[in-house]
Amino acid sequence: MKKLNVKENLCIGCRQCELACSLYNEGQFNPSLARIRVIYDQKTNTYSPNTCRNCSRPKCLEACAAGALAFNRETGVVVYDRDKCARCYECVKACPFKAIYIAEKGYILKCDLCGGNPVCVRLCSPRPEKSSPLMNNQEGEQALNYY
Ligand code: SF4
Ligand code: SF4
Repeated sequence: MKKLNVKENLCIGCRQCELACSLYNEGQFNPSLARIRVIYDQKTNTYSPNTCRNCSRPKCLEACAAGALAFNRETGVVVYDRDKCARCYECVKACPFKAIYIAEKGYILKCDLCGGNPVCVRLCSPRPEKSSPLMNNQEGEQALNYY
């Protein structure tokens, strides 16, 4: 099963992933509606994208009593049914990676890998060769990969 992999120190902080995600999933350029968020760490002066890790034992799923979260066997991700959601936010509290966000309108924002072809990966900017502050990036890799 393919997974979304994050190489944190390769993120350049362009936030294209946030914009691509909100456009694809919500039809608007609005980072507050993205299922992926770029976190800036002042101590190390680095950026890291944070999103769902596709846990093999998803705590969010276990926490949802309303049946709004379900495991998709084809993609291996927990998918969300907005109509069934009771807006209790137990899933938000249960996720150990703080990877579920809440939209202004009250529904949750959780990555589902765009059904198996995540747009954030396609838009992720490759970091220029050897420019990472914390690692030697010989290959000019990007922070988000799907394999
Ligand atoms: S939302 Fe959190 S708990 Fe649920 S599968 Fe993703 S990382 Fe795991
Ligand atoms: S907020 Fe919605 S999806 Fe999350 S646990 Fe509550 S009912 Fe389930």
